[in-house]
Amino acid sequence: MTTSREPGALDLLRGLGKGLATTAKTLARPAHTRQYPHQEPDLPERSHGVVALLEENCTSCMLCARECPSWCIYIDSHKETIEPGPEGGRARQHNVLDRFDIDFSLCMYCGICIEVCPFDALFWAPDFAYAEGDIRNLLHGKAKLGTWMERVPDSALPGGYVRPGPAVAPQADTPDTGSQVVDE
Ligand code: SF4
Ligand code: SF4
Repeated sequence: MTTSREPGALDLLRGLGKGLATTAKTLARPAHTRQYPHQEPDLPERSHGVVALLEENCTSCMLCARECPSWCIYIDSHKETIEPGPEGGRARQHNVLDRFDIDFSLCMYCGICIEVCPFDALFWAPDFAYAEGDIRNLLHGKAKLGTWMERVPDSALPGGYVRPGPAVAPQADTPDTGSQVVDE
């Protein structure tokens, strides 16, 4: 026959002593947490933080939008005609990119769009601090995607790419120059 007893004052004091000893031991150890946002994490430069767009390289070919498994890339473009020069030749058409949006509330950061782009127009940038209080504000246009090019590491940039000057605050998206010139 076994008997059980209620914990006495001595047991409680012993338990309290053990707890305090554990606290005292951990007090002397260095902290392994970072005080973000006061202390930025030291991420590898090739971190997959956000998708950046090099607009002048985009030909509006739509390949990235078609391959995106989340269907979260939205592209609009139109064609413009380039008249032949004074020396003659044929009129040519080129695509003008009107809209390039990525909805980061749907993006799964798979990188397929970057992999499939045949014109080196999409890159991983290490930026990650673009959370929003409203999920609808995670839809970013080409102006914002372009600002993230500043953080793309040199080792990932296409040959011959020259970084622009100091950063400019993102403006509302405006129709801009296209890229690929297509014979009519
Ligand atoms: S980003 Fe690349 S794949 Fe996507 S439309 Fe532009 S050129 Fe095509
Ligand atoms: S990273 Fe993946 S999910 Fe996100 S936009 Fe690119 S293809 Fe789509």
